[in-house]
Amino acid sequence: MNLILMGLPGAGKGTQAEKIVEKYQIPHISTGDMFRLAIKEGTDLGKKAKSFMDQGELVPDEVTIGIVRERLSKPDCDKGFLLDGFPRTIAQAEALENLLSDMGRSLQSVLHVDVPTEKLVDRLTGRRICPTCGATYHVDYNPPKVDGKCDHDGATLIQREDDRPETVTKRLEVNVEQAQPLIDFYHDKGYLVSVNGEQDIDAVFEDVDQILQTYA
Ligand SMILES: [Zn+2]
Repeated sequence: MNLILMGLPGAGKGTQAEKIVEKYQIPHISTGDMFRLAIKEGTDLGKKAKSFMDQGELVPDEVTIGIVRERLSKPDCDKGFLLDGFPRTIAQAEALENLLSDMGRSLQSVLHVDVPTEKLVDRLTGRRICPTCGATYHVDYNPPKVDGKCDHDGATLIQREDDRPETVTKRLEVNVEQAQPLIDFYHDKGYLVSVNGEQDIDAVFEDVDQILQTYA
């Protein structure tokens, strides 16, 4: 079960990843975790990646691909893996194909949790947090008992700078620009499976699960 998970911020990708990992016992491999592990283990590639990151530079593809190879070669990936946040570009997607074919493996599918951008703007701009205890709420999906006040301590809830409409819209635009070519790429290759992410969390997972059961 060799999978890639895609979805825009707010689409609920993280929640679906947790559910997939729990049911199918394959590792969830995010780019950040992969880099952290390589750096912690002090592999040559980890050291290289760190030197770029320390200088605030992007880690070059050949280093990233090498780290992906190291990670996918670990025994916990024998039954499969769920890649999240990689690949980000067509060049990386092509490198991944070569890498998997070198390893005698291939992708099963690219799961795309699909939610229209307008819906994501609603989801993301509706978030409120408590400045005192850090509790998070959503004006529509998870409202506090008293409008604008934290359930735990009564503090006035605030909206983070990142969750303001202009910032959210900009962030989504950047993400769409980055993701669309990959979605097209995987669609053309027949790997893309889109799941309607507008449904509630459990209904989305039922759809995901139905797809994954055909590979199990
Ligand atoms: Zn609070």
